[in-house]
Amino acid sequence: MAEFENPYAEESPFVQAHFDCLDCGGKLWEYAVQRRMVCEDCRAVFATGDVFEAQT
Ligand SMILES: [Zn+2]
Repeated sequence: MAEFENPYAEESPFVQAHFDCLDCGGKLWEYAVQRRMVCEDCRAVFATGDVFEAQT
């Protein structure tokens, strides 16, 4: 079973965002400090603002 490793886990806690990846539809995880989201499937990184614009 593949496990999603968060490269920033030690520095900034992350939360599962209520958004889907813009590329593959996978779950996005949000790094609140960096204002970024990363996809757990394809590892694409998005700016939080871009995700909001695309899905609101
Ligand atoms: Zn993805």
